[in-house]
Amino acid sequence: MTSKDYSKVKAQLENKPAKWEKVQKHNAPKERAFGKGVTRCELCGTSRGVIVKYHLKICRRCFRLNAPKLGFKKLH
Ligand SMILES: [Zn+2]
Repeated sequence: MTSKDYSKVKAQLENKPAKWEKVQKHNAPKERAFGKGVTRCELCGTSRGVIVKYHLKICRRCFRLNAPKLGFKKLH
């Protein structure tokens, strides 16, 4: 369970709608304008190691797998 996904809490408070409302009000993730929480990998969804350069918006791991398909060449 991540900070953005509180499905476990929802399951526990299924029959308590007022409490569930309160949990959502006080624990909802912030809407962020910049920083780590804004950029996500479009292929796997991680926020770690995301390459934004050249408008890629994919993480380094997905980039490594898909670089030849995207037209990148390895130069030695
Ligand atoms: Zn990825």
